[in-house]
Amino acid sequence: AHQGQKRQSGVDYLVHPKAVAEILIDLGLDCDTVVAALLHDVIEDTEVTSEEISQTFGSVVVSLVQGVTKLSKLNFKSRLEEQAENLRRMFMAMSNDIRVIIIKLADRLHNMRTLSYKDEEGQKRIAQETLDIYAPIAARLGISSVKGELEDLCLRYLYPDDYYYIAEKVSQTRVERQELVNHISKELQDMLKELGIEGEVNGRPKHFYSIYRKLKKGKPFEQIYDLIALRVIVDNVKDCYAVLGAIHTKWKPLPGRFKDYISVPKANMYQSLHTTVLTAYGAPFEIQIRTHEMHKMAEYGIAAHWKYKQG
Ligand code: MN
Repeated sequence: AHQGQKRQSGVDYLVHPKAVAEILIDLGLDCDTVVAALLHDVIEDTEVTSEEISQTFGSVVVSLVQGVTKLSKLNFKSRLEEQAENLRRMFMAMSNDIRVIIIKLADRLHNMRTLSYKDEEGQKRIAQETLDIYAPIAARLGISSVKGELEDLCLRYLYPDDYYYIAEKVSQTRVERQELVNHISKELQDMLKELGIEGEVNGRPKHFYSIYRKLKKGKPFEQIYDLIALRVIVDNVKDCYAVLGAIHTKWKPLPGRFKDYISVPKANMYQSLHTTVLTAYGAPFEIQIRTHEMHKMAEYGIAAHWKYKQG
């Protein structure tokens, strides 16, 4: 249906719906969603009708495609914060199937990844809209990988000076930070062994946008301690608190930095224990403790429902 159409970059249009489908496959969405992603721009941009999609692919796929088409017609002009909240609510309310929103997020993610082909004014407008509407919706649904990538791309186009400042600082300090991570990971693994608790330790670098937010609050780069948060992932809640106890016995926790999101989950159902400790290696260090189940929710949010076929 898209034959002959091109993206602004000059590639065949089909590259776009395929990329959107691939993002949704990675998130673990179901077959109908992936099919709808491949077809998501067909009603709007080609001669194909809803009836034809319905006949060929069934009622679920056509209603998903129609939902995405309807959302594409929403006009986000406002920059006022309270109106952005209204727009986000309207966006959510207009879809009777949450998969429509997830397709729309994947669509926006691919458009943001290929934003360099737009003119500068278009880049700023789309990035601002993404930051105001789409990234908060991804956050609300708990789909943290999409939220993080969207925000970092927005930062690059909206505040390029800050983006490249952070990129340079992060790369300057990478080697020493990695050494620190290796030391602490080793100690945490030994700790698990001593406690007789089955678990894994891993770390992921913080997104640039969350570093940016801290810099904007007036924190110097050198005082941002959680550039990499180490995670301890265990089987059950009891083990989470046991590991926390051992960590606080071994290292001194920084006052005011301990958060118990297990007892009091975030609104998007995120759960974890967070603490920042002083180690023998100098800089304070953030550690997050959670179960495997909580980890799935933290990474995929509502999308975990399809990925892990939960009830
Ligand atoms: Mn699209």
